[in-house]
Amino acid sequence: MRRKTKIIATLGPAVANADAISRLVEAGMDVARLNFSHGTHEDHEQNLRWVGEASEKHGRSVAVLQDIQGPKIRVGTFPDSAITLSAGDEVSLLSGEDEAARGEIFIKYLDRVANLGPGDVIQLLDGRISLEIASMETGIRATVIQGGQLSDRQGAAFPGLEVDLPAITDKDRDDLRAGAEMGVDLVAASFVGNAGDVRSVRELTDDIPVIAKLERTVAYRALDEIVREADGVMVARGDLGVELSWAALPRVQKDIIARTNAGGKISITATEMLESMKGSFRPTRAEVTDVANAVFDGTDAVMLSAETAIGKYPVRSVEVMNVICREAEKSPELHLIAEDTFIAHAARFPSAIAKAAVEVTHNLGITNLACFTETGSTARLLSKYRPAADIIAFTNNEPTFRRMAGYWGVRPRLIGRHETTDDLIIAAGDALIAEGAVEPGEHVVMVAGIPPNQGAQTNLVQIHRVGSGMAGGSARRG
Ligand code: PGA
Ligand code: MN
Repeated sequence: MRRKTKIIATLGPAVANADAISRLVEAGMDVARLNFSHGTHEDHEQNLRWVGEASEKHGRSVAVLQDIQGPKIRVGTFPDSAITLSAGDEVSLLSGEDEAARGEIFIKYLDRVANLGPGDVIQLLDGRISLEIASMETGIRATVIQGGQLSDRQGAAFPGLEVDLPAITDKDRDDLRAGAEMGVDLVAASFVGNAGDVRSVRELTDDIPVIAKLERTVAYRALDEIVREADGVMVARGDLGVELSWAALPRVQKDIIARTNAGGKISITATEMLESMKGSFRPTRAEVTDVANAVFDGTDAVMLSAETAIGKYPVRSVEVMNVICREAEKSPELHLIAEDTFIAHAARFPSAIAKAAVEVTHNLGITNLACFTETGSTARLLSKYRPAADIIAFTNNEPTFRRMAGYWGVRPRLIGRHETTDDLIIAAGDALIAEGAVEPGEHVVMVAGIPPNQGAQTNLVQIHRVGSGMAGGSARRG
């Protein structure tokens, strides 16, 4: 059995060369994440080119995910690039991103926090430093509860408070333009609060699927509308775990994955999955269990961040993730979806066909499920019904070929244009035989939209006997 759960790995200084990226692909990286909170456009473009070369070299589709920073709340700067805060210290808080004088901290969007008042807590540096508002009379004064070293531009959060953040920043606009020019395959939008924010990002992309990163309490409350608007949802446990309580994360993760899957969209589980591997050759038992549990929760993809971007064992981290996913996927329940599950968003007919096709593979024990897709949406729907069979997704569209690398259980393949559905089915069967996926005479379930090349919705399921020379196939040759 091939691995079904897809692996996203973040690129960064630890893997900034062609060889390292090639080894990440070899180890199982399906999606390379370019984190636009760091690095220059030149760095990202270079990485994207190396990913393309590695994909070519290993003959595997690899997608590039552009992660834009979004309206992240950050502190400003400090005279020596950092300050040390001790419990009990008093500081003045100012709104903005400027350089602070002694006893001050600038926080971006501070003036957009609704109903800020004494007793409210501000988390800095992923919750490692915390402040409590002491008074609001002569400016905003806060007391340090948990101290530490705070350096320039580190993150800040206001748990439980509503902050009126813009959907996108000027930097995001600029980054999206650059990403589209380089040819990224997917976009991840950080700190969205609702479906409108996702739409604002979508309007700036050029038909590229948009993944909404769930990292704010308000976004979790708006999950249903976000699932409808976005192409996928990321459980961004880093920031979400500061905004919500970290203790709520396991329950919230399950809920987000379940509702995203039920909406027919891509679910991604991210952050600290193999955190100790930043410096260690092996994961902790708790990390192994965390990755496996994300698979059991039904996630489409698991993500590595610092482990691959700045860690000591980037390639090994991908290898470890690969092994954990494969082991977890031996659990038989994984491939069963409830009988009454029906993904009933806009594409109802294709969804019914996809469900029927998956049932055919299960009922007949057929291990290859092929589809023809222009945009990838048919492959995504098949994937959402969690077949035990491999989904071989044929397309003649290169961006679709790449983006489908991120879809659970999908093996993207390029195929030329064919005038009739029969020709297409025969060509696909031949391609599967040629790559050794099936033996001549074996059955493959084929899903297509007829007539071909006219944007027809998926409307056909066929049990095709490959190599029979005839579409429809149980007829014998000669
Ligand atoms: P980040 O997003 O790595 O860009 O912060 C993921 C998260 O918050 O978990
Ligand atoms: Mn984040």
